[in-house]
Amino acid sequence: MMAASAYTRWNSYRDYLVAGYGEPVWRVGVDAGFSCPNRNPDRSGGCCYCDGTGASAAYQRTKESAWYHDSPFMERIASGPSCGPPAALSERLESISRQVEHGRAFLRRRYDARLMSLYLQAWTNTFAPIEELRTIYDAALSMGSWKEFIVSTRPDCVPEPVVDLLALYQGVVDRVWVELGLQSASDRTLERIGRGHDVSCFHDAAERLRRRGIGVCAHVILGLPGDDYDAFSLTASTINASGCEAVKIHNLHIPGGTRLYDSYLKGEVSCPSVRRHIEDTIYLLRRLRSDIVIERLVCETPAHRLAAPRDFADKSRFLALLHRTMVERDVRQGDMA
Ligand code: SF4
Repeated sequence: MMAASAYTRWNSYRDYLVAGYGEPVWRVGVDAGFSCPNRNPDRSGGCCYCDGTGASAAYQRTKESAWYHDSPFMERIASGPSCGPPAALSERLESISRQVEHGRAFLRRRYDARLMSLYLQAWTNTFAPIEELRTIYDAALSMGSWKEFIVSTRPDCVPEPVVDLLALYQGVVDRVWVELGLQSASDRTLERIGRGHDVSCFHDAAERLRRRGIGVCAHVILGLPGDDYDAFSLTASTINASGCEAVKIHNLHIPGGTRLYDSYLKGEVSCPSVRRHIEDTIYLLRRLRSDIVIERLVCETPAHRLAAPRDFADKSRFLALLHRTMVERDVRQGDMA
């Protein structure tokens, strides 16, 4: 068994994986070519922070490798096509196969990875007719030996037939997970940022998934316009009550070509500093149940996509500072839950 992580003040994802599998398990993040019901092809609608690129894994965005922050990348995003009709199924399956190969090779080379999970990461991965979902899931799962199958989606895109389908894969992999975007448990904030669903929708989806034994991971953004410590408390109690087993947290960031970017240019919103995000994160962690696995604590969007923040600490520096602060204050995840 490998050593536990250096971070003892929260329930780290690495420790969850090592405890379950004896060593780290790496995710192969894939864009399976889905779209999003909250975004229109003409770029209207959508969450105010959505840059229309579907949040795919950095190592899959090979065309961006030469981009730097001041390149015209953000303008390209702002003016390019967004979320059009999905490509032909055969084309998507070929693309998934290429991404799986590329992701696996990258993870082996970079981390000497042995165990891997399949992560349908980009866009809304349950937004399609059920037969299309089945074809894509079956094909992607057949492309490797996976420990876990992780599907990222919106709370309003998990109807019962989708839950039934996902539950079938529990015999194929060790664990099936659904990552649900909550972002905030304030309905007012959700409306303001254009999420297109409310908090009760999240509760409903999480409950139905949980009843079938499917793991639920909630996505949360700290620093959204309008959110304060009362909203963070509500977010923590919502997640605790929903039976979520994991959480992904990140600081508000502002990609170019988004409505949030327009508001930022007008001075209507700002991004939390490192110190602010440390305080907000500690506040939330202390109120989350201690058994919830913390999968992420900071934004991992590549710098060249971000209009703000420009000078945020990198992930390892942020985690070290967060941990040191929690040790100095003698606080930990769950001590105020
Ligand atoms: S749910 Fe995701 S893909 Fe859809 S508009 Fe929001 S951020 Fe963009």
